[in-house]
Amino acid sequence: MTSVPDLLSQLNPNQAEAADHFTGPALVIAGAGSGKTRTLIFRIAHLIGHYGVPPEQILAVTFTNKAAAEMRERASHLIKGSGNLWMSTFHSAGVRILRAYGEYIGLGRGFVIYDDDDQLDVIKEVMGNVPGIGPDSNPRAIRGILDRAKSNLITPNELERAQERYISGIPREAAAEVFRRYESRKKAQNAIDFGDLITETVRLFQEVPGVLNRVQDKAVFIHVDEYQDTNKAQYELTRLLASRDRNLLVVGDPDQSIYKFRGADIQNILDFQKDYTDAKVYRLESNYRSSAKVLGLANTLIENNTERLEKTLKPVKEDGHPVYFHRAGDHRAEGDFVAEWITRLHHGGLKFAEMAILYRTNAQSRIMEESLRRVNIPAKIVGGVGFYDRREIRDILAYARLSINPSDDVALRRIVGRPKRGIGDTALGRLLDWARINGTPLLAACAQAEEILDRGANKVTEFAALMDAFAEAAENYTPGGFLRYAIESSGYVDMLRQEGQEGAVRLENLEELVNAAEEWQTDHEGGTIAEFLDESALLSSVDDGRVKRENDGVPEDAVTLMTLHNAKGLEFPAVFIVGTEEGLLPSKNSLAEPGGIEEERRLFYVGITRAMDRLFLTAAQNRMQYGKTNAAEDSRFLEELLGGFDTVDQYGQVQEYRQKTWRDFNPSVPPRPAAGGNAPLGSAVKNTSPLTGELSYRGGEKVTHPKFGEGQVLAVAGVGDRQEVTVHFASAGAKKLLVKFANLTRI
Ligand code: ATP
Ligand code: MG
Repeated sequence: MTSVPDLLSQLNPNQAEAADHFTGPALVIAGAGSGKTRTLIFRIAHLIGHYGVPPEQILAVTFTNKAAAEMRERASHLIKGSGNLWMSTFHSAGVRILRAYGEYIGLGRGFVIYDDDDQLDVIKEVMGNVPGIGPDSNPRAIRGILDRAKSNLITPNELERAQERYISGIPREAAAEVFRRYESRKKAQNAIDFGDLITETVRLFQEVPGVLNRVQDKAVFIHVDEYQDTNKAQYELTRLLASRDRNLLVVGDPDQSIYKFRGADIQNILDFQKDYTDAKVYRLESNYRSSAKVLGLANTLIENNTERLEKTLKPVKEDGHPVYFHRAGDHRAEGDFVAEWITRLHHGGLKFAEMAILYRTNAQSRIMEESLRRVNIPAKIVGGVGFYDRREIRDILAYARLSINPSDDVALRRIVGRPKRGIGDTALGRLLDWARINGTPLLAACAQAEEILDRGANKVTEFAALMDAFAEAAENYTPGGFLRYAIESSGYVDMLRQEGQEGAVRLENLEELVNAAEEWQTDHEGGTIAEFLDESALLSSVDDGRVKRENDGVPEDAVTLMTLHNAKGLEFPAVFIVGTEEGLLPSKNSLAEPGGIEEERRLFYVGITRAMDRLFLTAAQNRMQYGKTNAAEDSRFLEELLGGFDTVDQYGQVQEYRQKTWRDFNPSVPPRPAAGGNAPLGSAVKNTSPLTGELSYRGGEKVTHPKFGEGQVLAVAGVGDRQEVTVHFASAGAKKLLVKFANLTRI
């Protein structure tokens, strides 16, 4: 471990002073790239190494799983025992607390976490006959209202008394009523949504002070990075956690507040000194990240915002390269320009992984990808339609959810017809009615279909029996083993096999899901499928944690493509910000919002300040959007920057360069490895266990199971894929297991 004086000597005097902050509230407020995150991590190391604080008493909250992972990684170099630090996102902190103590506020143990689509399903189901909701009322708009209400800790009753009579075009009374019904449906299904992860934790802390106290023991010293983007609910959660010991250190930059549309409130950071009148305030004024040219441009831009706190931010680095702006003929030419420069920079020694292309909307990624592909530049896309949003993945995870929570009606309705089982809408409707009247979950109604349906009851009871078997499998198998079992036994594989090429791709994705679970198992020994589900639910659209899976098969050294929002907190030697046009940056939607332009300007500021050495801004004169090509106008922000460019338009120069280099430099990009090393599901799944196939178990043999430990085989039935063993485990008693999925090892 680094000794104390060494540690703080790696910081400048202002940073060191902040890192040496011991007890009481503190605010580190500073511009981009000034070392806020670095200071936060060094402070944690210093608390442990110098002040002797046990790592188990330290909590650090970040916004994305990726940021949390990076923080953990950086901390591990500085700190012994850093594994005991609690470093997480707000949402995963919420899951952990609710899993441990949710029962105190009536949350059943196996609660599931609804994602955006599940939310929509429930909203559609309950909004039907609410007065004031018409056929043209958009369930997505309602979801937006509910999410925002939760971010602001607003209850249905409060929503009903909202100042505006209409919220996003929906009468407030109607919105409130949908909200109420949505909440009670969710409760009946033992589910919570993403927003609840925070709001329910707040409620738990308010209603059960004993629990708060227990959690506070693990959060004696609290840190929050990117505090400027907290919403009211997160603010309240932080406030409650810090209320006992008051050792709260928050770090942020009001100029980088970019999540107002999700309820973030810049006021939280601006009011910190009002909330904690004894707060120490630390300011960092040197930017270590960007060249002086890049920083100059960023400062020029952000000065155009009126609602801001003046800050000083001086470059440590030299001027560096000029910043280029390039106006291309159309979106394709824009993509080609970027690809050419990437080729050139790569040729000059920069790794692909040191370059990023940032855009305002995910839709812009496709053109960029195509341009890069044409010249064999490897690229990885962050965000977009993520791996866990794919239909087949969500279906199989819904099977898993229903297996661990038989009350999850949303999951049941999702999968009952995938694959088709001959259970029609009418039958389902009657089962649903019966379930409502009798106050039971839908699955319980299915099990009693004989009494409820006149016809076709056998298919329904078969399905219920299948889910019984799934529930047992969820207990007995590792997450990976269970998922394989679910994918095959549900009939899903057979269904996909009939779907030709598309089915084959989906099957590969499912194989990838099993790989993900198996990989996860190696890091989480003894982890359950329920825990794996929690983790996958947390890979939200704000986050880029899912990237890895999404981009399997892409070489390590690849250019990063992502939205400006996703780039927060990151840095790259070379950055391309594309589509600097009116309607894109600033976005069309921002024009009508009060403060919208200022928020877009902050977003652009975040983008510019990601660049360490090289920055390129591009725009197209014509752009295809929604299938039509329209003339595009330069972003108003470019005009604000005119004085900041070395070369306003390098077009001529670049053109000349293009002709010279297009033939001269041919990137020697390593070929992409074939996707997935494992055999496809269904066909070769047998080979994944060395114990299946000709090998057969005999009574009396000793085996080990990843979860139950050692055991002895009592009985064997069936052969091959269907071989089933009954094993007596010292830890768990007798269990019946399908050999194919159980991951048994002979001793
Ligand atoms: P952002 O506002 O974008 O989140 P930040 O203020 O959190 O930025 P960091 O990411 O902590 O800034 O630091 C930016 C870069 O500057 C990092 O590469 C970091 O290692 C480097 N840096 C910060 N302080 C120092 C220092 N004292 N000496 C050397 N490098 C530093
Ligand atoms: Mg940071």
